[in-house]
Parts: sequence; structure tokens; C-alpha cells
Amino acid sequence: MRVGIIGSGPAGLLLGAALARRGHTVVAVDPDPGPDAAGDWPRRGVMQFRHPHAVRPQVGEVLRAELPEAWDACLAAGAEPIVFVRDDGTRPPPGLRVRRETFERALRPVAARVPGLTLRCGHVDRVAVTGGRAHGLVVDGETLPADLVVDASGRAGRATRDLGPGPTAGGDTGIAYVSRQYRLHDAADPGPMVNPLAWEAQLDGYQVIVFRHEHGIFSVLLVRPAGELRDLRHEAAFTAACRAVPGLSDWTDPGRAAPLTPVLPGGRLHNHYRPQPGVAGLVLVGDAVCTTTPMFGRGLATTAMQVRALLAGIDAGDLASFGPWCDAHMRPWVLDHVRSDEHWRRVWSGGDLDLDRRVPSDLIAAAAQVDGRIAPALGPYFGMQAGPDSLDPVEPLARAVYRGGWRPPVADGPTRAELAEVLRDAVGARVSS
Ligand SMILES: Cc1cc2nc3c(=O)[nH]c(=O)nc-3n(C[C@H](O)[C@H](O)[C@H](O)COP(=O)(O)OP(=O)(O)OC[C@H]3O[C@@H](n4cnc5c(N)ncnc54)[C@H](O)[C@@H]3O)c2cc1C
Repeated sequence: MRVGIIGSGPAGLLLGAALARRGHTVVAVDPDPGPDAAGDWPRRGVMQFRHPHAVRPQVGEVLRAELPEAWDACLAAGAEPIVFVRDDGTRPPPGLRVRRETFERALRPVAARVPGLTLRCGHVDRVAVTGGRAHGLVVDGETLPADLVVDASGRAGRATRDLGPGPTAGGDTGIAYVSRQYRLHDAADPGPMVNPLAWEAQLDGYQVIVFRHEHGIFSVLLVRPAGELRDLRHEAAFTAACRAVPGLSDWTDPGRAAPLTPVLPGGRLHNHYRPQPGVAGLVLVGDAVCTTTPMFGRGLATTAMQVRALLAGIDAGDLASFGPWCDAHMRPWVLDHVRSDEHWRRVWSGGDLDLDRRVPSDLIAAAAQVDGRIAPALGPYFGMQAGPDSLDPVEPLARAVYRGGWRPPVADGPTRAELAEVLRDAVGARVSS
């Protein structure tokens, strides 16, 4: 069949290459032409391109199954497989320490070489629909016929917004990112870690995370309530914050590492779940279906899981199964993030855990520090082999911990108000010097 895909980000490329390998004729249309002759790739419209990404095992699984050369290309570009060992001694498939940019730079040329997949530069204005059936893409005014139209246009895509219901779950997370990439000096040891991917700390009113990538590169991320700590976008303020927060100061010590990029501010972040539009011949995939608060690193994994489920549906001639699959397996993750974000918004503005509602999953996990019976339930949830409802049986245990007055400890370091002061001083010193 002829497949027209809106977007050639990770979802469009992975699905497009896999469908082309199955003998379909696929065109993925994107206004982004890819890296230029000098290798620069501004990736306009994909604001997360240079923000830190954790790449979960699900992404490697789909790559190795559908496009193994892309997995090899990631490794050749320096991506480091992370092997976790579970409590029972088994090893799940590896995730990757790699920048999103490196991942996409590896994926794109491999996908572009797959016979049957054409990457076309253009903007999809809308989907051509007649009698309730999609039959093509309208690309810069010209209709490109297709038997199946796939919307892989990401969180910012608009081409199918007027088709089917809009998002049915989610909303503004109230959270914003500011990050910066650094590189360790040759032979310098990494700073502290809390797991093989990252170091993180919840402070009073904000969060900091260090994500390790390839070749000694790492990202420092400050997660803040949207509208707060805005001075972080200034280099002097970001540097001052790194100095002020224990742990970050180790990672970013000039004797250990040097900045690789300017400070990278991020826009407002949204959770959303959009059901399939119910238009014959049209399917959504990737961030077009759902987005989740990014600190948990789930977006590429949900994309990979969707690609697999959609391919299974297409292979079985049962495209209609994909919508119910997304409702059952993707929507719960969005609701999980909504609960967690509501909690952190409340706590960051001086409130407390709301024990009249289900305890958010990350708080259930934290309570395992007090009640060890919770811990065995966490592995499948964190690994996304089981959905958030897998924590329901231990939720009452966590609730009892919180009813007893325990709260997750806040890490040492400046409160948000104190950090704001540090930032103001740093920006003031820069202006007056
Ligand atoms: C700040 C941030 C941090 C994140 N961190 C992580 C992480 O740690 N781990 C993780 O797994 N995930 C993370 N994610 C999520 C991850 O980036 C996304 O899940 C992933 O990009 C989804 O891929 P996609 O192909 O669906 O969408 P995108 O990557 O957004 O690609 C969509 C493509 O569609 C194109 N397009 C849009 N409109 C049109 C149109 N009308 N016509 C033609 N083309 C169009 C765009 O140009 C773009 O190339 C993060 C997201 C954000 C915002």
C-alpha cells in the first residue's frame, strides 16, 4: 500500500522504514531537510532536540527488531548501552546513554537508505479526506495520494487537529526545563550518580538532574515551576546555580568539565493523550498520540511501543486494534504523569501530599524507603513492562507511610527562594560589570 507520513522525527522514520521493509511504498514529509552540508542541524520546531534524553530499552528493542543498522549506527556514534541487573539477577535489554541529537543523526541516514522509503521536504497542510476516509496528504498545496495516512508530527503538529476528538487527558504540567550540555575533560571521573543513567536531587521547590550521554558528554537540567527561576536562561545565572547546588557543583567543576552548548531554555511542557481520530485510513503515532512529563524519559519509549503495536496491527490486517491498544496502554501513562505533576505543583507552592487521592506513582516508589514490601512492585513499573496500575496493590502501603507523617527527604542545597537570590546576584553582577 501507499503510506503517507506526516513528519520524519523518530516516530515517522522508524515506522516508515519498517513499513518500507515490509514492501509498502512510503513517503515521509517534513519541512526539516535534515543536517546541512556543514553538518549543522537547527531542528526548528523540535525544541527538545538538544535537551537531555534518557533512551529506554524499548527504543533499542524496536531498533534491533526493525532497523538493526540504526542500532549499530547509534553505537558507532558513541552511544553507550546501559545494562541494568534486576534484583532477581536477570538483565533487561539495554537502554542507551546518548544525546537525542546523536540518536536522530544516526537514525535518519539509515532510514533514508531503506528502499521504498522516501523522505520528502515539505509541509503537510492537511489530510485529504473524502466520505470519512483519508486518501492523501496535502503537501504545500499539492495532493499526495495515500492508502494509509500516518500523523507522526509530534507534540507541535497541527495537520490533523480538526479531525476526530482533541486531547482527552492531560494539560499544562506547570513545569519547565533549562538545560546545558557539558563534556568531561579527558580522564576526568564522572560526578555522583544515583542510577546508571543519571544523578538527581529534589530540592525545596525545584529539581536538578544530570543525564549522562556519549563520549563523556552530559546534560545538566534544572526543572522549575514554569514562570519561576527565569534568570536561569542567562549563562552567568546558570553557572551560579551549578556552583550553589551540591552535586551539580561536583559535576560542573571547571577542573572536571567544560560547557559544550549555551544555556538551553525550554518552553512550557504538556501532558496530553489524543485518541485515534476515527477517520478510516488515518492513524496517529508517537507524540501525536501522547506526551508525558519528560524527566521520566518515557516519550521515545512510548513512541517505540506504539510503533511495535501499530506494525503488529498492520501485519495482521487489523489497523482498528491500534486505537483501543493506545487507550489501554498509553493513556494510563499520561494520567500517571498528570497525578504526579499535580502533586509537585502543590508541593512546590508550599502544599502537601493530597491523601484524598491515589498516591502518585513516584511517591509510592519513594515510600519503599520506609516500607520494603513496596520495592518488589517497582521494577516492572519503572521498566514500563507493566503499567501504572501495577502499583495499585502496594498503594495502600505507601498511603499508610504518608499517613504516618513521613515525606521524601529534600536534598541539601538552596531553597527556590535562595536560588532565585543567587541568580539575581549573578545576573546583577554581569550587568554591572
Ligand atoms: C524537553 C523534553 C525532553 C524529553 N526527554 C525525553 C527523554 O529523556 N526520553 C525520552 O524517551 N523522551 C523524551 N522526550 C520525548 C521525545 O522527545 C519525544 O517522545 C519524541 O520526539 C517523539 O518523536 P515524534 O517523532 O513523535 O515527534 P517529533 O520528534 O516532535 O517529530 C515530529 C516531526 O514532525 C514534523 N512536523 C510537524 N508538523 C508537520 C507538518 N505539518 N508537516 C510535516 N512535518 C511536520 C516536525 O518537523 C518533526 O520533524 C522529551 C521531550 C521533551 C519536550
